[in-house]
Amino acid sequence: MSDVEKGHYGRVALIGLGLIGGSLAYAIKRAGLADHIVGYARSKETRDRALELGFIDSACESAADAARGADLVVLCTPVGTYGDLAAAIEPVLKKGVTVSDVGSVKNAVVRDVGPFIPDGVHFIPGHPIAGTEQSGPDAGFAELFDGRWCILTPVPGTNQEALEKFSAFWRACGSQVDTMEPKHHDLVLAIVSHLPHLIAYNIVGTADDLETVTKSEVIKYSASGFRDFTRLASSDPTMWRDICLNNKDAVLEMLGRFTEDLAALQRSIRWGDGDALYNLFDRTRNVRRLIIEAGQDSAAPNFGRNPAAKK
Ligand code: NAP
Repeated sequence: MSDVEKGHYGRVALIGLGLIGGSLAYAIKRAGLADHIVGYARSKETRDRALELGFIDSACESAADAARGADLVVLCTPVGTYGDLAAAIEPVLKKGVTVSDVGSVKNAVVRDVGPFIPDGVHFIPGHPIAGTEQSGPDAGFAELFDGRWCILTPVPGTNQEALEKFSAFWRACGSQVDTMEPKHHDLVLAIVSHLPHLIAYNIVGTADDLETVTKSEVIKYSASGFRDFTRLASSDPTMWRDICLNNKDAVLEMLGRFTEDLAALQRSIRWGDGDALYNLFDRTRNVRRLIIEAGQDSAAPNFGRNPAAKK
């Protein structure tokens, strides 16, 4: 197999060494997709930890030093940092290098990184639809992307061979690959990811503000539903601030629809419209069935959390 078919890059630079950067490094090593992985993160502590864990082969003290001479550069930091990082690496990018990212929004990435991509450099933004609520270099693991989707949003005129190679790279990391327009990506992700996180942040915030129900009661009886929201609501605040600010239009569109539907639900409860409530609850059950059929979650009751249910 050729390097294009294998998705093999000689020197890979990962800018950002947290959950996603770390997991990507482990997945690259598992599949043998690089001869050398060089990493950069803002703090020395993170760089040292990544070296200690062994998911990078060397660390640099600047993004430019890491990107110099690399065949593939992947930005794995919060989306709000991309513009400055792209400006910093622009002068050192060699011809033929592929520059990508893992950011949860794509239109803003094309806007912020695109202007710093020199001629002869392949810019292929990407977003692995995989993650956990944890962050930092200790959170990464090789299997994170297995069976999950990675969406690539190539810009017009993207070199086909570079796109094929980068798609092969993500497949070798365990993902299935789709391509999409950046704007469409942002709309899809607003409903499947950004809105659920905002709802979770909001409901946990509401509970935290309550005065008539004590905080200890909220914690004590959380297994009745509340705790499922707390997983999403414990995701990294910097990352989610940047997602909201950089996918403003699509997030506001979905929040508007959600608010309208919530008002309709409120009206059904107020007027005792049991049929409307039943019909909605019945329709939504089916969505869970489809997710399980698509292999995107386990069919085990309670997400397989009850050990007895796993048997
Ligand atoms: P994370 O675990 O918090 O890691 C972020 C990394 O970026 C850390 O190594 C951090 O270094 C570094 N960093 C932050 N600001 C920096 C700067 N200004 N310059 C250089 N390095 C900087 O975050 P993550 O969950 O891996 O998320 C990274 C990206 O993946 C985000 O763009 C996010 O939208 C995307 N994403 C996340 C998920 C998810 O579920 N978490 C899923 C898909 C995509 P220090 O440790 O030194 O601060």
